[in-house]
Amino acid sequence: PESVPRRRQVRLPPDTTQDAFDTAIATLRRDIGAENVVLNDRPLVDGWYLEHPNTHDAFHVVDQEDLVCSAVAYPGSTSEVQSVVKWANECAIPIYPISMGRNVGYGGSAPRVPGSVVIDLGKRMHKIINIDVENASCVVEPGVSYFALYEEIQKRNLPLWIDTPDLGGGSVLGNAIDRGVGYTPMGDHFANHCGMEVVLPNGELLRTGMGALPGKDGSDNPTWQSFQPSYGPYSDGIFSQSNFGIVTSMGFWLMHETGHQSYMITFPRDEDFPAIVEAIRPLAQKRILGNIPQLRHVAQELNVTGLPKSHWYSGSSPIPRDIIRQHAARMPCGDCSWVFYGTQYGDPTGIKSQLDIIKSEFAKIKGSKFFLPKDLPVDHYIHSRALVCSGVPVLREIDWLNWKPNAAHLFFSPITPTRAEDAQVVHEINVRLHKKYGFDLFPTLCVAGREMHYIANIIYDRASEDEKRSAAGLMRELIAASANEGYGEYRTHILFADQVAGTYKWNNNALMRFNETIKDALDPNGILAPGRNGIWPRKYRGKGWEI
Ligand code: ADP
Repeated sequence: PESVPRRRQVRLPPDTTQDAFDTAIATLRRDIGAENVVLNDRPLVDGWYLEHPNTHDAFHVVDQEDLVCSAVAYPGSTSEVQSVVKWANECAIPIYPISMGRNVGYGGSAPRVPGSVVIDLGKRMHKIINIDVENASCVVEPGVSYFALYEEIQKRNLPLWIDTPDLGGGSVLGNAIDRGVGYTPMGDHFANHCGMEVVLPNGELLRTGMGALPGKDGSDNPTWQSFQPSYGPYSDGIFSQSNFGIVTSMGFWLMHETGHQSYMITFPRDEDFPAIVEAIRPLAQKRILGNIPQLRHVAQELNVTGLPKSHWYSGSSPIPRDIIRQHAARMPCGDCSWVFYGTQYGDPTGIKSQLDIIKSEFAKIKGSKFFLPKDLPVDHYIHSRALVCSGVPVLREIDWLNWKPNAAHLFFSPITPTRAEDAQVVHEINVRLHKKYGFDLFPTLCVAGREMHYIANIIYDRASEDEKRSAAGLMRELIAASANEGYGEYRTHILFADQVAGTYKWNNNALMRFNETIKDALDPNGILAPGRNGIWPRKYRGKGWEI
């Protein structure tokens, strides 16, 4: 791909002439240094997870050249971020902040409005500002990855854990404000943040939580990372999944290191699904389940080996159920249908008593089997789960992408109550529509207590226009069909943001009208990430941008 010339020149921001753009770029170069502003005029390279582009969505669902920026800017400090924001207001150029841009499956580093200037915060702003051992917390800049935070804690030999998502290369801050999840007891990343520093769309600097109260003699507030709200409305939430500000640093609570024991339970029949969900609910609500466990369909046991689909099945249709069954029968999981991955925490006595309860509850489902990591081969996926569930970042989950040539993926991620009746409806919609569109169904349910994130990983060949169209068609129909039954997504790829936001329409779109009121007040020129999460500034509304 390196040698393929761009079919289009630099994609200009909307309503901007080449002259005005050139002048604006020259000004920005003067403001933050010529070497920190790079035009997006080279051939686009999709790269891979660790060498991901900040020029476009590497997992393109539309044409590779559709979701592109015009240039990338690399501010080196909060005050440079402020000056970029002021520049954007003066030049009326949309900007799109990313922390590291590894938001794979959700749009990567691509802006929603083509031709925006991507503000890549992570490249130069990657300091771990503080690790407070007594408070078990840290403060990080956008460019701090899970690997970097983990390594620093190891280097300093601190008795603390981080919480990492499936892949450890992303930004701690970026993932939290996109409300991503991990798998230790502190897996809800946004819920475990404490305090933010935010550049508002007019360039003003804001500290949320206790950070709003100045510390003695100009120091940071001593309770900033101890108490999440402050006084008055709790404002942090509006800076997650939004386009209301650029977060330049953020505090997080860390977990104390502890004993841990991962395990796997298999269930024989597809029809066990409702019984498994019913067994999970009380265990999750009573917090007997230690972490955010995962329930996966057995099809994923084939996939996580890292072997391609062609190894298992020569057809191009989804792998038939009986073929999955035959393969599973020869694998450590055996001929089963559902696989539950959990981890318990604490001292050995505590872990044993929790596991006794868990085993006896799941044993009520006929034919279920319980495994410890030591019962399974060294290359089995459970060993990578055990690392993630004890706060060690890994990259194993990239193996998903061996499934197809040129593989990319989308996530369909609705929320369901932890109740068989509801989970069944969402699951059946997925079964029906994956079949209709000819995709393998890879559902993973991340259990957080009263709800489960049902995450279907839709893997497609990005060299095939047909498959891209089908994957997008599948997404659109999944979103609509689920919303008809009352279920909505917690997060989505930027291309489906309008549709998903549109499903949250109770009382004549009261929620979106509320968001638009905030947007117009904070960002009257509409420069910050227009369209992000379906929120369009006044300037863009009703002009055909919503898709
Ligand atoms: P990661 O590297 O963890 O995958 P990204 O940097 O891709 O995370 O962030 C995910 C999304 O969250 C971005 O596309 C952007 O919309 C938003 N985002 C990320 N970092 C910031 C930030 N510091 N301020 C505002 N929005 C951000």
